Amino acid sequence: MADKFDVIVIGAGPGGYVAAIRAAQLGMKVACVEKWVNKSGKTVHGGTCLNVGCIPSKALLETSHKYVEARDDYSELGIEVSDVQMDVKKMMARKEKTVANLTGGISALFKANGVTALEGTGKLLPGKKVEVTGHDGNSETYEAENVVIASGSVPVEIPPAPLTEGLIVDSSGALEFQDVPKRLGVIGAGVIGLELGSVWNRLGSEVTVLEAMDSFLPVVDEQIAKETKKLLGKQGLDIRLGARVTGTDIKDNEVVVKYTDSSGEQEQTFDKLIVCVGRRPYTQNLLADGTGVELDERGFIQVDDTCQTNAPGVFAIGDVVRGPMLAHKGSEEGMMVADIIHGEKAQMNYDAIPSVIYTAPEVAWVGMSEQQAKKEGFEVKSGVFPFSASGRAMANNATEGMAKVVTDASTDRILGVHIIGQHAGELIAQGVIAMEFGSSAEDLALTCFAHPTLSEAVHEAALAVEGHAIHMANRKKR
Ligand SMILES: Cc1cc2nc3c(=O)[nH]c(=O)nc-3n(C[C@H](O)[C@H](O)[C@H](O)COP(=O)(O)OP(=O)(O)OC[C@H]3O[C@@H](n4cnc5c(N)ncnc54)[C@H](O)[C@@H]3O)c2cc1C
Repeated sequence: MADKFDVIVIGAGPGGYVAAIRAAQLGMKVACVEKWVNKSGKTVHGGTCLNVGCIPSKALLETSHKYVEARDDYSELGIEVSDVQMDVKKMMARKEKTVANLTGGISALFKANGVTALEGTGKLLPGKKVEVTGHDGNSETYEAENVVIASGSVPVEIPPAPLTEGLIVDSSGALEFQDVPKRLGVIGAGVIGLELGSVWNRLGSEVTVLEAMDSFLPVVDEQIAKETKKLLGKQGLDIRLGARVTGTDIKDNEVVVKYTDSSGEQEQTFDKLIVCVGRRPYTQNLLADGTGVELDERGFIQVDDTCQTNAPGVFAIGDVVRGPMLAHKGSEEGMMVADIIHGEKAQMNYDAIPSVIYTAPEVAWVGMSEQQAKKEGFEVKSGVFPFSASGRAMANNATEGMAKVVTDASTDRILGVHIIGQHAGELIAQGVIAMEFGSSAEDLALTCFAHPTLSEAVHEAALAVEGHAIHMANRKKR
């Protein structure tokens, strides 16, 4: 038997690496096992998020957005640029460099914090032992006082559209295109499908998004979702709802997609097809018999509110457990679990986890939508402020969108904040902090916001709850 650790973390994504660093900061002896190898065969830390998720997708979204701005919008600002060209290979190289910097940064943070990085595949054995099988096939077993499983998730594949090298790809494949496909199909109008569809649409692809559900972004406040669909449609994303893919054929290096919609059977040909229908928890070969760790019916590791599994001393966090599949949710769970292992009382507020869709404009929300709040039995009041009335949005040439504050009418407590607009992903932090501190809309309304900022739209939305927005004509006057 090799070394014994206070904590062994399996998986070095944003859940696992944060748990490992926090536990080491608290003085514990920590190891983190990771099996991900990059194209050069080197073990890399950072998981889905850094390698094929949040970071590379945002690098491509940023480049493609700047390209569109330079091509279509600069002229309105008085900047004349001609012959704007896109170099896809250069864009990809910058993305790769960003990923390499960040994944290398996690390895450096492990060193700086004294976290032992174990390379290979970890398997939980009974009695809080972890077997690590290296890339050379040799195994070593380690003992731990506590184990944190952070093995993440993988893309869901669907039988009608099996992945086919270079033609039918998942989200990771869509981050690797070396040329702009002329006709691009996307199955799934979720967050990832809309972001990746936007990247390639901006660069010139004709993008068709096929969504089986009849509703668009059902988790998002209806008013915001409606605006999102309208604006993305204006940009050229052809989003078809109620379109259920039933099969695909590869013919002459093209993908023929068959789907059904309200008019019957349809067929459309694409140069490439991205399958973005969601992700599933990843627990393959992770749990030996007799560990006591149980999975639920959907394959998630079963945990309580503090991420404790059915096996004492074994925790699970991030995408492999219930809750939104978001990097920051996994990281927060990682910190909570490290604190609990250290003997502290820690908990997470699952009601105040922000979500962002990094389209242009961005869409962001925290807490309940107006519809959800009503369903939960609240009498709801809301205030909405359009970006078209914001001085800063006008100065920025970014007047699309709105901010919305949803409150409990009887107490004025903020139940949700919803924003579509430039930098919504940054602005939403105000809603998160407000909700974390149990604020009322009046608390936000009485707060002084710098002028001119986009944040003032959130301030005005809070004022609008009582019909007191200053820079627009209020519908309800009091
Ligand atoms: C295209 C795309 C864009 C996204 N954009 C965003 C975004 O903008 N914001 C956001 O919050 N989220 C985003 N996500 C989701 C985000 O990436 C995940 O929620 C996040 O990575 C989950 O973190 P995790 O630590 O739970 O798991 P992961 O990041 O999946 O990491 C799990 C790690 O565990 C390792 N592992 C698994 N099993 C073993 C084993 N047995 N032994 C050793 N190692 C193992 C894996 O190799 C992996 O490195 C995006 C995802 C995708 C695909």
